[in-house]
Amino acid sequence: MIAIYPGSFDPATLGHLDIITRASKITSRLIVAVLNNSAKKHPMFTVDERVRMLTEICGHLPNVQIESFSGLLVDFAEHLGANAVIRGLRAMTDFEAEMQMAQTNKTLNPNIETLFISTQAEYSFLSSSIVKEIAVLGGDISSMAPSPIIKKMHQKINGGTGGGEEKHGRTY
Ligand code: ADP
Repeated sequence: MIAIYPGSFDPATLGHLDIITRASKITSRLIVAVLNNSAKKHPMFTVDERVRMLTEICGHLPNVQIESFSGLLVDFAEHLGANAVIRGLRAMTDFEAEMQMAQTNKTLNPNIETLFISTQAEYSFLSSSIVKEIAVLGGDISSMAPSPIIKKMHQKINGGTGGGEEKHGRTY
C-alpha cells in the first residue's frame, strides 16, 4: 500500500508523529502531505518550514517522505500512485468532518480508500492549535510536540530566526 497522510501540520505534534510512525509500519511508502492552504490566514509556520520540520522528525523512518501540495487531495494522491489516504481520529468531534471528507474523496476517485487510525489515549486531546496556544502563553509543551519543533516554536514566539508569514509577539 502506498498511502498519503495529508494535513496542515502547523506544526506537527506528537499525535501526528504517532500516526505517521504507526502508518509507516503498514504501508510500503507513506507520503506526508502538507496542505498549502492560502485560506488559512495566520499560520505559525510557512509550508516550507513545516516540510523541513517534518523531514527532520521523520528522518528515522525510511519509507516516509514529506511533500507539500495544493489543489485536490485525490489528484495529488493519483499523481503519486497512492491508493490510500490515512487520517487520524481523536474524538467523535473529528468523526463528522472526516466522514464527509472521506465520502467526498471516494466520489471524486473511487480507487482511493480512506483509512482511519485512532489516536493513542495520551494524544487524544492534542491539536496543533492547542499546542500553539500553550506555547504562546509560556506553558510546558514538552509532552506534546517533538523537541526540534518545540525549539522552532520558541524561536518563532520570541521573534527569533523563524521567518514565517506571521510574527507572534510574547503575551503576558
Ligand atoms: P487538518 O487541518 O487537515 O485537520 P491537521 O494537521 O490538524 O490537519 O491534522 C491532520 C490529521 O491528523 C487529521 O486526520 C487529524 O485528525 C489527525 N490528527 C491531528 N492531531 C492528532 C492526534 N493528536 N492524534 C491523532 N490524530 C491526529
